Amino acid sequence: MHLVDQHCHSVLVADLDEDRLAALLTESDRPPAAGTTPFDSALGLAVRRWCPPVLGLSAHAPAAEYIARRRELGATEATARLLEAAGLSVCLVDTGLTAAAGHSLLPLTELAAVAGAEVREVIRLESIAERVTATAEGWSRALRAALETACAGAVAVKSVLAYRHGLAVPPEPPTEAEVARAAAGWLRGPRTRLADPVLLARLLWTAVDVCAGAGLPIQLHTGFGDPDLRLHRADPALLTDFIRAAEPSGVPLVLLHCYPYHRQAAWLAASFPNVYADIGLTVSYTGTRAAQVLGEVLELAPFGKVLFSTDAYGLPELYLVGAAQYRHSLGRLLADWRADGACSAADAARIERMVSADNSRRLYRL
Ligand SMILES: [Zn+2]
Repeated sequence: MHLVDQHCHSVLVADLDEDRLAALLTESDRPPAAGTTPFDSALGLAVRRWCPPVLGLSAHAPAAEYIARRRELGATEATARLLEAAGLSVCLVDTGLTAAAGHSLLPLTELAAVAGAEVREVIRLESIAERVTATAEGWSRALRAALETACAGAVAVKSVLAYRHGLAVPPEPPTEAEVARAAAGWLRGPRTRLADPVLLARLLWTAVDVCAGAGLPIQLHTGFGDPDLRLHRADPALLTDFIRAAEPSGVPLVLLHCYPYHRQAAWLAASFPNVYADIGLTVSYTGTRAAQVLGEVLELAPFGKVLFSTDAYGLPELYLVGAAQYRHSLGRLLADWRADGACSAADAARIERMVSADNSRRLYRL
């Protein structure tokens, strides 16, 4: 079955040495333990399990052998093979990141060609807000106009609020006076990284308004990420008041990644009609344990509320690992359920279809 990847980034096409490739197998920009590389991890094992066979080696080939083979084929051929093997029919690409390991990422038209997939754009909210030029009093209005323009042609917007201030968003938008005061401070500064809680709240509530009009979902980073994050502030349960307040707008809120708070996300998805839970990044990083983690998501999350993605970024290997580990792990979980008499073959097939593609097709009107 071809998958709808509801959250990913574009890919780089380059002959990488082992250090550069390994650096993209971790969310951390800090060095690994002495004498090891990021290949010494659940994700590293998953890369060595799923990728070498696609390049003509046996599974679990050593990293050095894999990289030598990758160079021998050339980055263009290796990338094409890895992306084709991922079997993605649609990719929703967050364009907030434009480079990785010193290489720029492919423009979306080229990504579509090499992946053999339909590619649609997801707009990064904070990037739009950081580019708004206006007076302090006019900031709110200019932000709204900029968002409306950016959303034309996009399939969703994405927030990295979790990184900037955390997910405890107040249940009502700030007043215009509060926004003007905060905007004055922001506009006086270097304007490199929007982290003011008032402006971030204004941004999210403006996104709710604009997305309600345009019929677009909002994706929110939740759970683990790079060391820039304060993990406890990325717990999606902190969004509860905001979720309740945004419910009447009808705008779907997609909780990305979620781990290790995937059980909180599952409860939110079960409780609120506007909440969906994504399993991307989590399945790749938990590797061989992904079947158990998916099982924990599906303890509470309704099957119509769980969305597949890879969150692949830069390395074509991450697309294949995200897709292959997901297929394998969900297959194991559902085989378990069937062996236990919990569901029929038809039920299992229906659940797989929903999570793999149908839920996203419905949500994003693909
Ligand atoms: Zn992402």
